[in-house]
Amino acid sequence: MTKKDMQFKPVTHVLFDMDGLLLDTEVIYTRCTEEIAARYGKTYPWEVKLKQMGRTAPDLAKVIVEELGLPLLPWEYAAEARIIQEKSFTECQLMPGAEKLVRHLKSKKIPIAVATSSSEETFKLKTTNHREFFKIFDHIVFGSSDPEVKNGKPAPDIFLICASRFPDKPAPENCLVFEDAPNGVTAALAAGMQVVMVPDPRMDELNRSRATFCVDRLENFKPEVFGLPPYDSAAT
Ligand SMILES: [Mg+2]
Repeated sequence: MTKKDMQFKPVTHVLFDMDGLLLDTEVIYTRCTEEIAARYGKTYPWEVKLKQMGRTAPDLAKVIVEELGLPLLPWEYAAEARIIQEKSFTECQLMPGAEKLVRHLKSKKIPIAVATSSSEETFKLKTTNHREFFKIFDHIVFGSSDPEVKNGKPAPDIFLICASRFPDKPAPENCLVFEDAPNGVTAALAAGMQVVMVPDPRMDELNRSRATFCVDRLENFKPEVFGLPPYDSAAT
């Protein structure tokens, strides 16, 4: 971890993105889009992945269809994608360090929640093998199906609504967000929150530098950097 001596404003509450941050689903999304693009003689460049990551299901389909020039309507893309994803999503794994950090924060009574752009229906598929893990969180907000979330990431709505659902309603500056996607980092900053980015190794320096702090793997994050309880020495 770099910049480890740097001081950040202490936080009291933690909000987690899900895809590519807690769950290793971005590889599934990538493979799926590559497969559909190939059907129409197209490729799927990283630049398009960057624009689309973190978005709600309808926004994501629209970006992919437009950027790749697919001869499909967004809902048609979503239907093709769904067939491929349904099986893969049920087999996805947790990201390295996710369980350790989440269980640690819970054991120290830090309020924690998930703010995902997924719908509740897709969430159920992705968490097939991780039901107990996701029960640890105080609450989960589903950006693609929650009527209160009017605008998906990169708009700040989902993080503000997620924070407002803690009983003590923390101010945004007391919340720390974990994100892997530039759209999610933008959303967190727009909400007035600090954000730790745990990016894909291909992420460019400009996108990394927009986050409050960047760490290569969730398992390398030190909670005390943001005033959260450190890991007990036995657990590290
Ligand atoms: Mg993500």
